[in-house]
Amino acid sequence: MKSQEKNKQLYIDNEAVSALSFLQEGLLSPVKKLMNKKETEQVVKTGMYQNVSYPCPFLLSPSGRRNEEVLKNVQKNEQIDLVCERKIVGSIQVDEVFPIDIEERLSQIGAILEEKDYIARRIGKYALSGKVEIENQINNLKQLVNDKKEKLKAKRITGVIFNANPIHRVHEKILREEFNDSDMIVIFLLRYHREDFLSFEIRQKSLDLVLNKFLSKERICVVPLDVTYLFAGPNKMILYALIAKNFGCTKILLGQKTRGLSVYYNHRTRHSVFDSLKGIDIEVKILDEYAYCTKCRCLLNAKSCPHGQHHHIIYYAESLLQFFKMGIIPPTILVRKEVSALILKELFPERLEEMKQIYYGALPSDGVFSENVQEDFYTKLIDLYQIRN
Ligand SMILES: [Zn+2]
Repeated sequence: MKSQEKNKQLYIDNEAVSALSFLQEGLLSPVKKLMNKKETEQVVKTGMYQNVSYPCPFLLSPSGRRNEEVLKNVQKNEQIDLVCERKIVGSIQVDEVFPIDIEERLSQIGAILEEKDYIARRIGKYALSGKVEIENQINNLKQLVNDKKEKLKAKRITGVIFNANPIHRVHEKILREEFNDSDMIVIFLLRYHREDFLSFEIRQKSLDLVLNKFLSKERICVVPLDVTYLFAGPNKMILYALIAKNFGCTKILLGQKTRGLSVYYNHRTRHSVFDSLKGIDIEVKILDEYAYCTKCRCLLNAKSCPHGQHHHIIYYAESLLQFFKMGIIPPTILVRKEVSALILKELFPERLEEMKQIYYGALPSDGVFSENVQEDFYTKLIDLYQIRN
């Protein structure tokens, strides 16, 4: 990337880099550039951008005193370097700088209470528009999806948004069922800038494990999707739909409890935020809730089962995570034992010595010396629990 030492510098964080990468790669199309003052006002007034619902203007308004000084003194057509974590990651040719109202901006973003402080800290007093160039990795992902699409000659492509936190049986069920309607599935695996209990790497590894061992992986693409401040409030739904569409998907699946989807029922008809969105040309399918019914003895759409909720095992991510927090292996009807073994091994590596005593002393060895005692320990344990007298 061309840069001269004399260029002024704007300091942006990883979230902004990620958002600008989306923009540059056309994933937020019809929005293909930072909005200027006039476009911003138009979007605020109408909630639309080029005939597509777009409630929140797409702006670059980095916070901080140094950034503010630069923005106050910059000239039209000046080239500014974009710096993230002390590295020049791109540049912008300035078109226009204009002041913004932080409170107003927060309400446009539609941040919910717990996101508000975090987002407010990131918003500066000025926004700038202009041509951006940024180094990014998304291009490779687009290529990956395109190559697979061509290879499979896929026409019906479904995008699905997964946290996979952790990947469980319902995720698998959803993917399997979707293959009846779809030539190819793109899984957008959400990646957060603030780490959660299970890191992105563990979630990705577990997902890969399930895809490799139990699903037709050749028809699936996994795309890490950075969750930035853009993905707040109802904007999130529009962005998911736009990104999926711009990745070539013809349909998007969303769980009915997805935040921001705002599902409600009126006379048994399901409504959601998509009822009021315009111009986003992609089929939206909202998934019903799944449960394991102990009477039907299978994983099913909770609506299709006559038994009451008290017979249902529910797949709440929080409860599933609690097993792992407590260091217990969850029942295999919730999470595959191979996945649980992988996660527990990553979370509790120090257990190796303690488990050797049980492993070599009490568990059947099948006459094979294991190279992966920890994962083997958990999976054998699960098998043993399932033996009945
Ligand atoms: Zn039932």
